[in-house]
Amino acid sequence: MSLSASGRQVTLYEAGPAAGGRCRSYFDKELGTRIDNGNHLLLSGNKDAFAYIAEIGSADGLGGPEDPVFPFMDIKSGDRWEVRPNLGRIPWWIFSKSRRVPDTRLSDYVEMRRIAKIKNDSVVSDSMRRGKLYWRLVEPLAIAALNTHPQAGLASLLGAVMKETLLRGGRACIPRFPKEGLSEALIDPAIAKLTERGVRIHYNSRINTVRTTENRVTSIWTSGGRIELDAADSVVLAVPPWVASDLLPTLTAPDKFEAILNVHFLHEHDPAGPLGKTGFLGILSGTAEWVFAKKGHISVTVSAANELMDDSADELAETVWLNVRDALGLPPEMDRQIPPFRIIKEKRATFAATAAQEARRPAAKTTIPNLVLAGDWTRTGLPATIEGAIRSGRTAAALLLAP
Ligand SMILES: Cc1cc2nc3c(=O)[nH]c(=O)nc-3n(C[C@H](O)[C@H](O)[C@H](O)COP(=O)(O)OP(=O)(O)OC[C@H]3O[C@@H](n4cnc5c(N)ncnc54)[C@H](O)[C@@H]3O)c2cc1C
Repeated sequence: MSLSASGRQVTLYEAGPAAGGRCRSYFDKELGTRIDNGNHLLLSGNKDAFAYIAEIGSADGLGGPEDPVFPFMDIKSGDRWEVRPNLGRIPWWIFSKSRRVPDTRLSDYVEMRRIAKIKNDSVVSDSMRRGKLYWRLVEPLAIAALNTHPQAGLASLLGAVMKETLLRGGRACIPRFPKEGLSEALIDPAIAKLTERGVRIHYNSRINTVRTTENRVTSIWTSGGRIELDAADSVVLAVPPWVASDLLPTLTAPDKFEAILNVHFLHEHDPAGPLGKTGFLGILSGTAEWVFAKKGHISVTVSAANELMDDSADELAETVWLNVRDALGLPPEMDRQIPPFRIIKEKRATFAATAAQEARRPAAKTTIPNLVLAGDWTRTGLPATIEGAIRSGRTAAALLLAP
């Protein structure tokens, strides 16, 4: 986006038949409806993501509650609560029993704020006392943000997210997600904007080889043939890390990944029910972690899900549906009536946010002057998120635009 905005002539080669990568929608023939590959949640403090959304004119494509509110339910105890930070920077919400996490102490919040100062390799589960605030807020947020179990996930990456959202006050943590689908909100308007700016987009064009001569990329090979580069041409390699490592054998990049499981159930949710106010719900003590109300279906996310990848679709649907039934407050007999479902296993959803993988993240700048890297796995200082991916693109563009 940044390069086309600055008037550069841009050509895009995309391996797939459509744009979107790990953040896309498609029509599922069996369910007879459009679904997303997986639920994606943004927070209003994701400033690069919202600058992008403004640039592509898609602010109306996102919905969610008007206020910073995070509803939770514990499946085991049946307890429900909401976390409601106040809008401003001074966190008076932590003094309010109706806004903070139940059964927490003020000292817990002081400890939680310290996570943002962590610079070493300590993991989330060691980052603060494991009391109610940890179990009921920090851990679920960490698993969602890092897509890594807290015993291995880097606290400093969680701290980086907290610094830009929760610790900036409620105004920076209003949950936002697509009203329709990911493609409608985040991808299609971008493609329209790029096309309007004269960007040429080639789908089904997989880059197979990046050829360098005398420390310059001189040609790239796609499934459609060889493309020679002029002296003034540059390449932004914005592919997943395993592809980048194949194309650039000397590159060190993340090589351990975590899966995300999404289960979509055909189910018309009740607007007066538990998902009515916010459109989503966090679940504790279950297999399901986040439940979203979508048009004509309910969509469930389970992060850091490597160990579920070998389970059968029927098993997964059955387990997750029991959690959904409880979360939505459906009658007990609904446990035997699993609606039509679609399981999506994103096996390499993100790199594992561990110290070892963090050390493998390369900078956008390479040793080859006309080659830069982009992607959520480059050294953005953030975990693998939309915010990180967009920031990486901006960094890559800034390098090429620098005089
Ligand atoms: C299920 C799921 C849930 C998620 N939830 C959230 C969330 O709630 N919030 C959040 O912020 N983030 C979330 N993420 C992470 C987010 O989707 C990613 O961080 C982001 O999409 C990464 O964008 P990217 O451009 O770096 O990579 P990608 O989206 O992977 O894009 C890379 C592109 O390169 C293309 N490509 C691959 N090989 C080649 C080749 N050889 N030649 C040409 N093109 C090639 C691919 O087809 C793809 O289009 C989630 C991810 C998943 C999978």
